[in-house]
Amino acid sequence: MKWQCPFCNHIQTVTDAKSKEKYLALDVGSSKHKNLAIAAQVVGCSNPECDEVQVRVSIGRTWENSQHGDYRDHIEHFNIRPLSTAKPQPEIIPETIREDYYEACKIKDLSPQSVSDAFSQMHTRNDQGLLFS
Ligand SMILES: [Zn+2]
Repeated sequence: MKWQCPFCNHIQTVTDAKSKEKYLALDVGSSKHKNLAIAAQVVGCSNPECDEVQVRVSIGRTWENSQHGDYRDHIEHFNIRPLSTAKPQPEIIPETIREDYYEACKIKDLSPQSVSDAFSQMHTRNDQGLLFS
């Protein structure tokens, strides 16, 4: 599969040796979600200068009485490493703006209103001439 590393932006073809996906059935008896399962995906970057790993976890459902945690019906998805989908930013962008961007990306899936506030702050700084000065 084609994949772009979230740490170094290097586009690469991922081999089976650099990609793993594991499933786990979570039997807690009766719940409105029924037959929960977790899927964990890990991809390793082949760029030797980066050598990072991307880790994501998803919650879904499995078939009743599944012993292997067969995964279906995606419910939620979480970025574990890196914590967000933020792209690395060049140092030409002021550090405060980069930090605001990284923070906004971290929380965008959890709190859309907080992201809106963070981007409003960035626009305010831009209007005050703090960006790209
Ligand atoms: Zn990388």
